[in-house]
Amino acid sequence: MLKLERRARICLLIAGILFLGMVFFTFKYVSEGGDWAGFYGNTQIYTAGEINRGEISDRHDNILLSCSKDGVKYNEDSDVRAGTIFAVGDTKGNISTGAINMWKSELIGYDLLNGTYDKSQGGKKLKLSIDAGASKVAYNSLNGREGFIGVFNYKTGEIMTLVNSPAIDPLGDIPQNPDSPVFFNTFMLGKLTPGSTFKLVTSVAAIRNMDTDAFSFKCDGINNFHGVNIRCTGNHGNVDFEEALVKSCNGAYGEISRTVGSKNLKAAAKDAGLMDSIDVDGIQAEKGSFDFPNNDDIELSWAGIGQHKDLINPCSMMVFMGAIANDGKAVKPTMIDKTNFFKKKKGGKIIGEYISPDIANKIKSMMKSTVEDNYGSSRFSGLDIYAKSGTAETGGKKSDSWFVGFLGDEAHPYAFVTWVKGGGTGYITAGEVANDTLQALVSNN
Ligand SMILES: [Zn+2]
Repeated sequence: MLKLERRARICLLIAGILFLGMVFFTFKYVSEGGDWAGFYGNTQIYTAGEINRGEISDRHDNILLSCSKDGVKYNEDSDVRAGTIFAVGDTKGNISTGAINMWKSELIGYDLLNGTYDKSQGGKKLKLSIDAGASKVAYNSLNGREGFIGVFNYKTGEIMTLVNSPAIDPLGDIPQNPDSPVFFNTFMLGKLTPGSTFKLVTSVAAIRNMDTDAFSFKCDGINNFHGVNIRCTGNHGNVDFEEALVKSCNGAYGEISRTVGSKNLKAAAKDAGLMDSIDVDGIQAEKGSFDFPNNDDIELSWAGIGQHKDLINPCSMMVFMGAIANDGKAVKPTMIDKTNFFKKKKGGKIIGEYISPDIANKIKSMMKSTVEDNYGSSRFSGLDIYAKSGTAETGGKKSDSWFVGFLGDEAHPYAFVTWVKGGGTGYITAGEVANDTLQALVSNN
């Protein structure tokens, strides 16, 4: 009897292990089946057979990549290939945020019940929201320098341009090291010192918590505060609240930051979405990080000026620019225009009212004055542009160049974020990349 009982127990144990194994396999199959099917070792789905039929195009139906029985084909223009590589992705899977890596299994027609068997006529199609022509212009305008530009439609959420530079040509020389910086999507996954572009966030905190009409500051270019200099790029003299932004006066923004205080600055950065990760069709963008000390007025001043430990993610900055343009309402970005494998549209939803319509309109009018009274509208011929530049000091020889903002044009409601490493004066270097790209987008769309 004893022997039998023992055997029965062993049988039960084996059955139990088998059952757990089945549960584990089923779980793995459901959750990772697409990746197994899309594994690059499964060469037949890339090189032969009808399954191999994915196609990626831009918003104007320019083919960016197509997979057929004959293999993978990219666009014939090398600048289009490099300018769209961060949206399209590379076949080696080094650019994790690219479409062919994000939706690999969908593009090859994988589904849970049928595996890679796909009977759909003409194969899987993915039409991206990006404009290939404008992406080429943006890539050439960056001209090999380290930098990026992201532009999206702040009403519909469609990303119009997502270019990082330098970038690989998928048909050219590709670094062997998968950690090479040319594969890194800085716009989506990076965190950078914002410089004076952050003064827009500090301005929100000021309008909420101070009598900005009564504000005035006398800048002498050095702005000594308790023995420490908060230098400006020039001697700005007497400035009111709007002039402080137009001239980007560090002295004035230092005082504003101290008056507003640590807690309110932090709340403004949080409300602007700069501490959260933006979700773009399932790609999680990096989130920004800040330190607004309540026991050090000098550090707090620099934090409100966009230096100290401020780090922003460019994609979340772009969404914030869209919110200022859109009466305070932030719209979820998307890279997908149309596809036959997702039923629901992923972007375009309002993800929150970042700021009130009144504050949005006040900031908007200050950004217009900044363009007209400081940068000069003639740099942006024909564009109804609202902007703020930044020149971020990060210890390099030359400061990094920022230019952020949006168009007020109803037919072209585009918000943008541009950055050029070591580019110097923001509105000149990054401003030129933004202008080139926006001109192309407006004329193509
Ligand atoms: Zn100043």
